[in-house]
Amino acid sequence: MIERPEIAFRDPELERVWGRVARGERLDRADGLAILGTWDLAALGRMADHVARARHGERVYFTLNRQLNPTNICVLDCAFCDFAARPRNDPKAYEMDWDEILAHVTDDITEIHIVGGLHHKWRYDRYVEIVRRIREKSPGITIKAWTAVEIDFFAKIGKRSVEQVLADMVEAGLDALPGGGAEVFSERVREALFKHKIGEREWFAVHDAAHRMGIPTNCTLLYGHIETYEERVDHVLKLRDQQDRTGGFQAFIPLEYQVGTTNLVERQASAVEDLRTIAMSRLVFDNIPHVKSYWVMLGEQTAELALNFGATDLDGTIGIEKIAHYALAASEAGHTREHLLRMIRAAGKVPVERDALYRELAVY
Ligand code: SF4
Repeated sequence: MIERPEIAFRDPELERVWGRVARGERLDRADGLAILGTWDLAALGRMADHVARARHGERVYFTLNRQLNPTNICVLDCAFCDFAARPRNDPKAYEMDWDEILAHVTDDITEIHIVGGLHHKWRYDRYVEIVRRIREKSPGITIKAWTAVEIDFFAKIGKRSVEQVLADMVEAGLDALPGGGAEVFSERVREALFKHKIGEREWFAVHDAAHRMGIPTNCTLLYGHIETYEERVDHVLKLRDQQDRTGGFQAFIPLEYQVGTTNLVERQASAVEDLRTIAMSRLVFDNIPHVKSYWVMLGEQTAELALNFGATDLDGTIGIEKIAHYALAASEAGHTREHLLRMIRAAGKVPVERDALYRELAVY
């Protein structure tokens, strides 16, 4: 039991929320909105940091990982996506051959993170084979692969149930799902930005099946575009309900929308907006172990600050990241272990190296 800090509040609404946290009450929609609307950042940081420390002490997790995006060719055309290329005659289209894919698997990483486009010509077996060949090359690596959008797509092209797809992937070597593709659970936003993509019902069906099969997953929120605060909080509450049912989410990852060339809004979310979203997630999710500070999208300075606003995971070294960088993310494309150690220590935290299943590999 760690001691509750004395906090000097300027925002009486935030003080009311703190009272609820102190009494061990579960936060609701009004509380989430009060957090997103506050300017009392110093108090908010102390609240979220207290809750994070009660779970993990001063520990902040990271991994030595690499992102693999085998193709950007995609049959969909989500309005916020700078990564995807159209199936025909798009100069930025690429597809990796086996040598390129397997070159991503090296001895210096413990986690590989695989997501990509929904290719109009690749067959079901190729996606399973990607996992299998990586597993054959590296029996010890943890493989975190495919969003719910991709699993649902594989079920359609492979004429299988979601459960059969997941079973095939596990048999090939998959360990966990990364959790993207949810964007925001709002039909209004879906209609405007990604109406051809699976919605809430299908996304939850994939994660529900995965959890019931013992496959851990993450979950995400794409924020900072046209969604409202109410939609942001409702998204978090729906994920919390799912976690109550199946308990398989390891981490929640708020993904800051990158304006890139899609220009849905004039400018990126501010650092204040990022920190309020991270803190809101930590305080509302009383049942998900980690909130992640995804430095690729937040930028390094904000990502480091977020470690004092409730985040307890910094993702990893990443290697060559394509999705956010097609959208002109300003961060570096990859970092060394030493760089991540410096970021975590600068926040006053203790770095813990993990794999994709959050098994602790080293404490620094
Ligand atoms: S967000 Fe995913 S599904 Fe949508 S266009 Fe981009 S790659 Fe395709």
